[in-house]
Amino acid sequence: MANGNLNCKCEYCRVRGLMAPVVIITIGALFFIGEFTRHGFGKLWPVLIVVIGVVMLLQSRASREGHIGGNRP
Ligand SMILES: [Zn+2]
Repeated sequence: MANGNLNCKCEYCRVRGLMAPVVIITIGALFFIGEFTRHGFGKLWPVLIVVIGVVMLLQSRASREGHIGGNRP
């Protein structure tokens, strides 16, 4: 992840930083569920879209107050 300022503690950057781990955890959870239930990953993948959508929604609502970075807030 080259984007984002790691020193920035604003809400927007923290939510943005959550995206990658949340996606990885969700994929892992879906494969886990797929292993132990009759529903394969092929039926579960839309959950990933929903999770990404939720994080993007949180990101769009997050405040950039106190943002440290090159881009203007
Ligand atoms: Zn920031």
